[in-house]
Amino acid sequence: MLPFIRSDLVQFNAYKPHPNSASGKAVESSMPLDRLDTNESPFDLPQELKEKLAWMYQHELESNRYPDGGHAQLKSAIAQYVNESAALDNSSFTSANISVGNGSDELIRSLLIATCLRGEGAILVANPTFSMYGILAQTLGIPAIAVGRNAKFEIDLDAAKLAIADRQNPPIRVVFVVHPNSPTANALTAAELEWLRGIPEEILVVIDEAYFEFSQTTAASELLQRSNWIILRTFSKAFRLAAHRVGYAIAHPELIATLEKIRLPYNLPAYSQAAAAIALQNRHDLLATIPQILSERSRLMQALTAYPQFKVYPSAANFIFMQLQQDAIASAPDFLNQLHQQLQASGTLVRQISNGLRITVGTPAENARTLERMRSVVPSQ
Ligand SMILES: *Cc1c(COP(=O)(O)O)cnc(C)c1O
Repeated sequence: MLPFIRSDLVQFNAYKPHPNSASGKAVESSMPLDRLDTNESPFDLPQELKEKLAWMYQHELESNRYPDGGHAQLKSAIAQYVNESAALDNSSFTSANISVGNGSDELIRSLLIATCLRGEGAILVANPTFSMYGILAQTLGIPAIAVGRNAKFEIDLDAAKLAIADRQNPPIRVVFVVHPNSPTANALTAAELEWLRGIPEEILVVIDEAYFEFSQTTAASELLQRSNWIILRTFSKAFRLAAHRVGYAIAHPELIATLEKIRLPYNLPAYSQAAAAIALQNRHDLLATIPQILSERSRLMQALTAYPQFKVYPSAANFIFMQLQQDAIASAPDFLNQLHQQLQASGTLVRQISNGLRITVGTPAENARTLERMRSVVPSQ
């Protein structure tokens, strides 16, 4: 350990993009992997849009100049999309309600800096959930308090209320929920939303809608009345731009102004801003792949549910979470590991997490291979 490094950082590991794959390769290294472990869209940007971007790069972007540090155009296009996505009129949300980040990961970190740093607050999460909240909190020395979920992965609201009422030191300042949740794919229930509405105003409620385009359920219209709510969304999933790292926050202008204060000046490269703007202009075409992804999800779900060994959970997102039935675990305790490894060895990468597998819905061909490989590695009864 270097003597000048903060002592609490010793215990941390760097983030691994594909945590379960040592090499990132299938057994035969020439075989391309079906990467169904990180929940991106399986569809690249259409060729015409890539050409348009390439044209902009050649003729319009000045590579010697800093990018637009205020994201003015992009913010106003995003505000328009947010209004449309929540069936609100055009003037409901404006640029003043939007902050743009280098992925929503950056916005999560900015929120933590703005709320909890200097020992002023802790965060509350309900596990299993997106791991970045806890990881980023810990790297800033911010305590992360975790409550559990029931058998349907609904948040243990009694435990959550107790944790908030407990007035620990430091007190909970931020509650993070994902709508729909990852890795479990369930959207917030009416009871969970009711709990969020009752959370006192001195606590920030972060609703991460990374999978909004798949679920089509959003808290955006309600956010207009709630100064302590913020919604995070991303271009990394349905918008097919994970390579460009663009995320955004929707909130009350005062909260947005605070995020802008702590943001790095030129956090979003010009090329990424251009890509996000083009994606928004062409949103109807880009999002037209969603019905196909949802019907592929049903097909996968149906086929996986047919296995007596599997417990497959409902999904409101572009991925499926499954665990093993108790008797399957009892008869073969290592079955989940084997399943994960054999799928990978045969060319399908999925995420092993929370005693289960999280499988991203891929292209029809990828999904067909997933099912075929599953058939060859799961013993028939
Ligand atoms: C994928 C994902 C994100 C997106 O993160 P980016 O940094 O925008 O790529 C955010 N939250 C959740 C829950 C996700 O699954």
